[in-house]
Amino acid sequence: MKIMSTQTWLPDLIYIDGRFQSDHALVCDEAGKVVQIVNADQAVNATPLRNRALLPGMINAHSHAFQRVIRGRTEHRSQNTTDTFWTWREQMYAAANQLQPEDLYAVSRMAFLEMALTGITAVGEFHYIHHSPDGSTYSDPNLLEREVIRAASDVGIRIALLRVAYARAGYKTEANPLQIRFIEDSPEIYLRHLEQLLTAPELQDGTAWVGVAPHSVRAVPLDYLKTIGAFTNERELPIHMHVAEQPAEVSACIEEYGRSPVALLETEGLLSKRFTAVHAIHVTPKAIAAIARAGALVCACPTTERNLGDGVVPVDAYFDAGVRVALGTDSQIQIDLLEDARELEYHLRLQHTARNVLAPRDDAGSAALARRLFDCATVNGARSIGFNGGKLEPGAPADFFTIDLDDLSIAGTSTEDLLPVIVFSLARTAIRDVVVGGKQIVKDGKHRLHG
Ligand SMILES: [Zn+2]
Repeated sequence: MKIMSTQTWLPDLIYIDGRFQSDHALVCDEAGKVVQIVNADQAVNATPLRNRALLPGMINAHSHAFQRVIRGRTEHRSQNTTDTFWTWREQMYAAANQLQPEDLYAVSRMAFLEMALTGITAVGEFHYIHHSPDGSTYSDPNLLEREVIRAASDVGIRIALLRVAYARAGYKTEANPLQIRFIEDSPEIYLRHLEQLLTAPELQDGTAWVGVAPHSVRAVPLDYLKTIGAFTNERELPIHMHVAEQPAEVSACIEEYGRSPVALLETEGLLSKRFTAVHAIHVTPKAIAAIARAGALVCACPTTERNLGDGVVPVDAYFDAGVRVALGTDSQIQIDLLEDARELEYHLRLQHTARNVLAPRDDAGSAALARRLFDCATVNGARSIGFNGGKLEPGAPADFFTIDLDDLSIAGTSTEDLLPVIVFSLARTAIRDVVVGGKQIVKDGKHRLHG
């Protein structure tokens, strides 16, 4: 039997360079990379994708897969008169502490499966459960990290395991027994475990890699942060951190260091092109300028931020400053990155009682707003997790999804309007095929792990 050295996909429309084009085919090589995009009449042995449009796979830059277990279970009043992020967090911790390694694998696989079915082909997993429920270190200190990586691998999506450093409950804050599974007391212990993970056999084929994630300025004191920041810079790893999600975090940081979280990170040399500030909601214009100067990214998670009552990411100000914004599903209250993309804009419309807030000034009559939002779900996310993906061009990974052009949520749309309709109206039911590294993991809306 002749082994095909390339595989060619021929959809009705393909998203290239920010617009949809017809009569083009995507050619991939055996290694799962895009070789070229050719005219349809040059396509040989192409797999037809009839009535479908093909788009680059989406990148979920911030996920806590295990939080999928509490979906729907915190939508009621707790004993507090006012529920907040902090009361939700106690409920989330209680769930985290019950998970055995096999449970963590199962819930992660479920979350990643839902991601795959929505066109997400790579995830940045901000992983902070390290120890057994009694706080002791497993004989393999990365047992849980490897379970999460295995879950992504079994679903077939790529994963950047962003290994979290967690040292304390907070400045002048009593230790919280519910954080016992997260804490690694010193940067030396954290780095030893991180280095062990960096040599894990799961990381050898390029579908999984590692980044560094100091949890927050609240949970990691400055000396610890500087030590792991230096290691991260030396190895050129992606670095993610929760920044300014809640006003209380900002005020505690000012009390401890006399500086806001972003000012602290800037003056201590932690901001860089490899740094992603997750949330970055409660920030000043000075902080936004500092993030822009460093070339750092922001990861917004609007479906979670609205669910937790965190606030609205000032994406208009970030865009004006030239900051790239990625997206994350974070708490998994909803896994639909296009919903996150549209909410970036919708939250600002509600706040400013205006429309098309994030459209470039010269947007008149074009799809530039939709392109900006789709870039957040693709190329910006890829950059954030240290991955050359989120786009379809020669040399890029063959990671993509297709949509059914007859799906009622988008039917009757012209090619010019297709991207805005996808970004603002596409229902998940429209997603038909998902391919990662040239390998098809979802076909006709079905994954082999899902009936
Ligand atoms: Zn988070």
